[in-house]
Amino acid sequence: FSFNAPQGACPTCNGLGQLSVFTEEKLCDPKLSMSDGALRCFTERGNILFTRIDERHMNDLYRQFSINRRTSWKKLPEETRKLVLHGNAEVPLGISNVFRFSGQLRKKIQNGQWPGIIAILQFVYRFAKGPLEKFQETSVCPDCEGRRLNPTALAVRFHEQDIHSLSEASLEEAILFFESIELSVREEKIGRDIFREIRDRLHFLNDVGVGYLNLNRSAATLSGGEAQRIRLASQLGAGLQGVLYVLDEPSIGLHQSDNLKLIETLKKLRDRGNTVLVVEHDEETIESADHIVDVGPVAGLNGGEITAQGSLHDI
Ligand SMILES: [Zn+2]
Repeated sequence: FSFNAPQGACPTCNGLGQLSVFTEEKLCDPKLSMSDGALRCFTERGNILFTRIDERHMNDLYRQFSINRRTSWKKLPEETRKLVLHGNAEVPLGISNVFRFSGQLRKKIQNGQWPGIIAILQFVYRFAKGPLEKFQETSVCPDCEGRRLNPTALAVRFHEQDIHSLSEASLEEAILFFESIELSVREEKIGRDIFREIRDRLHFLNDVGVGYLNLNRSAATLSGGEAQRIRLASQLGAGLQGVLYVLDEPSIGLHQSDNLKLIETLKKLRDRGNTVLVVEHDEETIESADHIVDVGPVAGLNGGEITAQGSLHDI
């Protein structure tokens, strides 16, 4: 059931949920001719990025297929544009004919066999993804429609839900689902430990105020505060003792009710025998501290002195 494993992943997109393909729109400048640089994947030195495929290959190609290199890309017949990009033959590409010996591929072209610019880029992409991404268009995978799993994994349903529809739910909705389902004796027996684990983890996350997030939300799109609170939730799950936690303004961006939950969470960590050091401007959080260290008297250059410390009552 994991898109990170070949058994679960959609084979078309390898579990990414989206496909990146090289397209004519991204690769070619329609106003320019090929001799003026219509193909954007060529460097100023005249080779295809990272390869030994260069002007000599292109000259062979123009000659062999009678292509006018001075015609602007958009005025070339569709057939020709297709040939340049998609080729006319399945020429095996490898390290030696792409990166090392330019003669090998030239011989093929002179024999009328051309793999196409896109096939070459797809080969290079295996070694250098980043620099080639600008020539690609990303779209939702047509086979799994962004669900990232293969049909077999998606065919398994639990109380009307497949794993994707559950991942699309917010944490709050997922908690509701797992609390409202009525388990059969058999399900209870099989899933006892799993259900406990699922409920615990969902609650840990909800307790730190991120209950509105979807389970399938990608980590890269989280705000700093959200990421920090999620790490906190995983610490709650770990149940460690004797640890010093240092948090920098964990309340940032939280609604008041969520802030109270967060404070309760921090107290739970403390009660387990940990030390929680929080840098905070939020009054509620400060008032909840066992020991306050007030740094001031103002911010910036004129601050930095400890102006008061002790319990809330003392100060
Ligand atoms: Zn897919």
